[in-house]
Amino acid sequence: RFEGIPMAPPDPILGVSEAFRADTNDVKLNLGVGAYRTEELQPYVLNVVKKVYVLSLMAENLMLERGDNKEYLPIEGLAAFNKATAELLLGADNPAIKEQRVATVQGLSGTGSLRLGAALIERYFPGSKVLISAPTWGNHKNIFNDARVPWSEYRYYDPRTVGLDFEGMIEDIKAAPEGTFVLLHGCAHNPTGIDPTPEQWEKIADVIQQKNHIPFFDVAYQGFASGSLDEDAASVRLFVARGMEVLVAQSYSKNLGLYAERIGAMNVISSSSESATRVKSQLKRLARPMYSNPPVHGARIVANVVGTPVLFDEWKAEMEMMAGRIKNVRQKLYDSISSKDKSGKDWSFILKQIGMFSYTGLNKNQSDNMTNKWHVYMTKDGRISLAGLSLAKCEYLADAIIDSYHN
Ligand code: PMP
Repeated sequence: RFEGIPMAPPDPILGVSEAFRADTNDVKLNLGVGAYRTEELQPYVLNVVKKVYVLSLMAENLMLERGDNKEYLPIEGLAAFNKATAELLLGADNPAIKEQRVATVQGLSGTGSLRLGAALIERYFPGSKVLISAPTWGNHKNIFNDARVPWSEYRYYDPRTVGLDFEGMIEDIKAAPEGTFVLLHGCAHNPTGIDPTPEQWEKIADVIQQKNHIPFFDVAYQGFASGSLDEDAASVRLFVARGMEVLVAQSYSKNLGLYAERIGAMNVISSSSESATRVKSQLKRLARPMYSNPPVHGARIVANVVGTPVLFDEWKAEMEMMAGRIKNVRQKLYDSISSKDKSGKDWSFILKQIGMFSYTGLNKNQSDNMTNKWHVYMTKDGRISLAGLSLAKCEYLADAIIDSYHN
């Protein structure tokens, strides 16, 4: 009976790492997966995360007193985490929090939180569509497909400018039927690295508000893009400040480097505390048969880091450091390409992009050339992860990009 099951295709992002591992050439570079690396291209465990371990070992009595055991968490997750994560997202003094209009449920990182949000849409807004940006993070389509939520795309990327197709985006959001969910990347759009300006965000909010659409934010890079938690949450806060109802999925994979801990949250900002209470009860009801309750370890790390002033400050400094390293390689890559390329092409789009990724504008054939000739592993849409790049490798990558671009 299992004979009839066909082979599934490899994941377009995680498959890149498999191909990278199989390459025996020393010059190889993995710019496929979006995970932070040090200048030596090694994975990085944040110092604050290590300190939480040490402090909790030292304070064993304290831990026992606080009940840090391995009992199940409630369906909605760790209370201290849920409080910390909503405050981090919206700002602790946000009226939506004070008025208890935020339903927060701990999720299985960004992906699991998005999936929970999709399940809520499927159950309580049957037939409603989600608009997603063209292009978007590849897993968004899988998530909504598997949750049986219909989706279509709004224009986002303009290949002529390697920038934002703002008019197209506004037109498509306007054209969608009232009450459509609009998926937005809170900051550091994946895969393009192209974000709306603050003025453009206001206009996007105007249209969404006029059309009674519901914004659904994916916040996977708060603090990691600009280095500032507040700056990276400005888009979400703008919508919430207008009194709109908003969905927000959060992830601590990148900003706290907790990839494997699967820690994030689904937040629903409602118009009243009564509806927030009801929404939360339904989120729990959706979670229970899917995974019962979330894992505790990452939630404790986040709650401890955010709740301990010295650790919170150190975290912010480490985020600035990580964001700074990425900005440095972005600048160096641009400098190398623009000084080496004699064709007169304008590469300044590289500097306008933000976050971990750069969309190079390379097409599939050119991306294949990057891998086959230059041993540079990247997704076939032309996206490179700058987190996998060191200053020392910028010149090499510049040669590879110029060669591939002009071929
Ligand atoms: N959304 C976006 C836009 C992402 O880039 C990612 C990570 N690549 C995620 C969500 C989810 O990641 P995770 O499930 O590890 O939090």
